[in-house]
Amino acid sequence: MALPSTYADRNCSLARALEIVGERWTLLIVRDAFFGIRRFGDFASQLGIPRAVLTNRLKFLVQENVLERVDGEYLLTAKGLRLWPVLRAMMAWGDEHYSPGGARRTFRHDADGGLLDTGDRCSTCGEVVSAPDVRIEPGPGFDPGNATPDPVSALLNTPRRLLEPL
Ligand SMILES: [Zn+2]
Repeated sequence: MALPSTYADRNCSLARALEIVGERWTLLIVRDAFFGIRRFGDFASQLGIPRAVLTNRLKFLVQENVLERVDGEYLLTAKGLRLWPVLRAMMAWGDEHYSPGGARRTFRHDADGGLLDTGDRCSTCGEVVSAPDVRIEPGPGFDPGNATPDPVSALLNTPRRLLEPL
């Protein structure tokens, strides 16, 4: 999985971080873990990822201590939780440039309902809110699609706190 090392990469922690989370599926797996998905089958059905690929990615994330396996479920470690601001910034960038209808998801401070800016600062109390206190809900650019959602998608599409198990 390691990228070819170049002179420039040796002194760049972005290159090192991308060796861990730069592969396409990996950040999506981590995102779903923040959304409360914990079971292999739920990751597989949510992501539509080939099971062999999912097996490899989960194994790698456990090996790198981004996820830990507890009673057959995959949970974010403290190291994994530190990826939230990365995901948040990338989602904001995607909304800004590729979501003409507005943000696909809205983030609020669960305690007071205040809207969070892209750095997760609450418009009501001014605090920077960490992942477990973030409430996520469908935003103005949210597209529910035509099909009846499976039970996991339906739960993901209702307002809920990050990391709350599905
Ligand atoms: Zn607040």
